[in-house]
Amino acid sequence: MRSGNVNERSAVAADSDARELRASPVLFERARRKGSKCALHPKPPPTSSARYLTREGTLLAERTFSPEEQQIAVHRGELQNMLLDTVLERLGSDAVRTGQRVDGFELSDGVVNVTVTDRDSERAEKVTARVLLAAYGVHSSVRQQLHPDTSFHWEGTRMFRGAAVREPFLDGATMTLIYGEEGKRFLAYPISRDVENEGEELINWVVMVPEADSRTISVDDTKNEPTDPKDVAPTFRGWGFDWLDIEGLVAESTDVLRYPMTDREPLDSWGEGGVTFMGDAGHPMYPIGANGGSQAILDGQRSPST
Ligand SMILES: Cc1cc2nc3c(=O)[nH]c(=O)nc-3n(C[C@H](O)[C@H](O)[C@H](O)COP(=O)(O)OP(=O)(O)OC[C@H]3O[C@@H](n4cnc5c(N)ncnc54)[C@H](O)[C@@H]3O)c2cc1C
Repeated sequence: MRSGNVNERSAVAADSDARELRASPVLFERARRKGSKCALHPKPPPTSSARYLTREGTLLAERTFSPEEQQIAVHRGELQNMLLDTVLERLGSDAVRTGQRVDGFELSDGVVNVTVTDRDSERAEKVTARVLLAAYGVHSSVRQQLHPDTSFHWEGTRMFRGAAVREPFLDGATMTLIYGEEGKRFLAYPISRDVENEGEELINWVVMVPEADSRTISVDDTKNEPTDPKDVAPTFRGWGFDWLDIEGLVAESTDVLRYPMTDREPLDSWGEGGVTFMGDAGHPMYPIGANGGSQAILDGQRSPST
């Protein structure tokens, strides 16, 4: 593997752990200011405001975001394809290899020998690189090789996620967070206008339900599990407003996932020799508040190659 190669299972959304990602547009702007010709202009407008209320409809807070505070909510597939196009344009078509899995590495004489396995044939090969920058998420085998503890901290909240194409709510660019009884929360915001019917949007929703006391869980218990929207709907029966039909939004959603809200203890080192990691491999964060994606983008801007 030469420096600059990108090993990615796939460049489309179907492979993502999640469907959407929110991040600060300031980060994209910063990338452009650094001389980037990158066309990272996600299609939906940045989230212009946020509305926080109780499930009975009492307004708790409302904010209009300044340009520095706005968040971009983007379909992950769209973002990944934008990134892929930019990498191919800048580095050439041989810079990206898909369908490959990085299984581990050895350090020797100032280089890194990386084991890369084809996911279809399971044929493994060794490639030699000067630097291995492992940006492959929370289940990174490079992290595991350097830090074998695979446990996660679950703070006890179960999350559910889904999305459905619907008519926009409010101004079509507002994020709304609704607080209910027993710590239940419901979050919704638009992530794409690239949908079949003009005037509709793909609206993403997240449900958070306290389920257990905080505890340590194994990596196997952190996986996303497909869930029937019918199993989520009873949790929010009776929720909703004349401007937001929560039950309808959940019922019409496809690819609903459930998973625990987890993070990990900070690491005391982030690499060895020419090997380092970035993003979730180094510091998984709670998947809320646009933290993980924003931090991964910042890591990329500060990585050795930049
Ligand atoms: C359900 C959910 C919702 C989230 N929502 C938000 C949000 O709204 N805003 C936000 O900022 N953050 C959010 N996060 C967190 C955010 O997704 C991560 O922090 C961010 O994606 C981390 O980026 P990354 O590049 O480190 O890893 P990832 O985005 O996970 O990318 C890793 C890539 O590496 C590939 N890969 C995995 N193993 C290998 C291997 N062995 N070899 C080669 N490639 C491999 C994977 O297929 C994947 O494409 C969410 C997370 C989840 C799970």
